[in-house]
Amino acid sequence: MAAMVILGAGHAAGQAAASLRQAGYEDGIVILGEESHPPYQRPPLSKQYLSGEQGLEKVYLRPEKFYADRNIDLRTGTTVTGIDRENKSVTTSGGDTISYEKLLIATGGRPRKLTIEGSHLPGIYYLRTIADVDDISAAMKSATSVCIVGGGYIGLEVASVAVVSGLRVNVLEMEERVLQRVTTPEMSQFYHDLHTSRGVNIHVSTACSGFEGDGHVERVICGETSIEADLVIIGIGIIPNIELALEAGLTCDNGIVVDDHCRTSDPDIFAAGDCTNHPNPILGRRLRLESVPNAMDQARTAAANMAGGDKSYAAVPWFWSDQYELKLQMLGFSSDGTTQVLRGDKAANEFAVFYLHKGAVVAVDAVNSPREFMIAKQLYGKQVDTAQLADTEFDLKSLLKK
Ligand SMILES: Cc1cc2nc3c(=O)[nH]c(=O)nc-3n(C[C@H](O)[C@H](O)[C@H](O)COP(=O)(O)OP(=O)(O)OC[C@H]3O[C@@H](n4cnc5c(N)ncnc54)[C@H](O)[C@@H]3O)c2cc1C
Repeated sequence: MAAMVILGAGHAAGQAAASLRQAGYEDGIVILGEESHPPYQRPPLSKQYLSGEQGLEKVYLRPEKFYADRNIDLRTGTTVTGIDRENKSVTTSGGDTISYEKLLIATGGRPRKLTIEGSHLPGIYYLRTIADVDDISAAMKSATSVCIVGGGYIGLEVASVAVVSGLRVNVLEMEERVLQRVTTPEMSQFYHDLHTSRGVNIHVSTACSGFEGDGHVERVICGETSIEADLVIIGIGIIPNIELALEAGLTCDNGIVVDDHCRTSDPDIFAAGDCTNHPNPILGRRLRLESVPNAMDQARTAAANMAGGDKSYAAVPWFWSDQYELKLQMLGFSSDGTTQVLRGDKAANEFAVFYLHKGAVVAVDAVNSPREFMIAKQLYGKQVDTAQLADTEFDLKSLLKK
């Protein structure tokens, strides 16, 4: 009997298996993943892997040998079709039944799809997996004009790679501004201007209503107007993969509901990563996050508790995005701030915006400012003097000594 079964072979799954071994857990570990790859990092997919700067070996979380060396039974190309809580086992599409002592659900999410006129046409892609990017990269070689539906991080990252590679690029965003869901109007404007200056055409308040083409996409329809495109990439968010958990009767509510120990409503089943709805004791509310740091930290927490530990998950959310030569690092949620303080030089693409609530730092957006970002992490929740924050001559590190 396999003692620990991990459902899904993504970021959280790979980390959980490694953490179980690091914690000295010696019995069987099985990872069941439907993709044909070992656990890998998704961030490079819309960045360095798409641009060709990174190969697969850099994308994999760990070399395949890692799992064999540690006696971790990694079964790729294996889809789990059911969880039997009574018998404590899972079934696979290949007809296998695998027993578990503890189960970790790390099924991530899948792209939200558009079901509008013409959405089945060849030349229209979503971006979530290595296989998706391999298809998109091949299509980019012969394309001349790409239309990206969705002005979120993935859409804008793809836009930057595509325009640099010489394609004509249009981005459609149905909201009034790009990145509306995740940042302030000022940051949205900054990224809008950045992309426009590099040659990307951004259309805000523009909903895509259909696609047309003769056997292949040729244009994107937006109400009365249309945009020529021989390649379409859709990035309009994800849907958490919670169906197996739901069918097994686990509590779900925009994600699999877990406690601060990453435990679901069944004490022998844990969940981690994009598929969870978890409490954040620092922010005082529940969240479902789509970020690598969250997937990794939850995986470590779940692994510790599956092995009999008593570890709580409590971290301020953070995220990053690479577009052109700009690295954006975000801590917390800017929407939690009531005041913002700019430090640095926006025109030089090197600045940080601190967000404060009642005088304390609650979030930061740092562009090409890793030092400010690192310090902000330590200043989180602390009262700060806004004049000192804004003054680039003032050494922020001195605030940490207080
Ligand atoms: C293009 C892209 C760029 C991103 N960029 C960033 C970034 O810059 N910074 C950042 O912090 N985050 C980024 N993210 C988000 C980050 O990659 C995710 O938060 C992270 O991958 C979540 O890990 P996970 O293990 O929860 O899920 P996933 O990595 O999605 O893994 C889940 C795995 O489970 C498998 N699975 C699902 N159901 C089954 C089943 N029934 N049987 C077997 N296997 C199953 C799936 O096929 C998948 O392989 C990006 C995501 C994408 C797609």
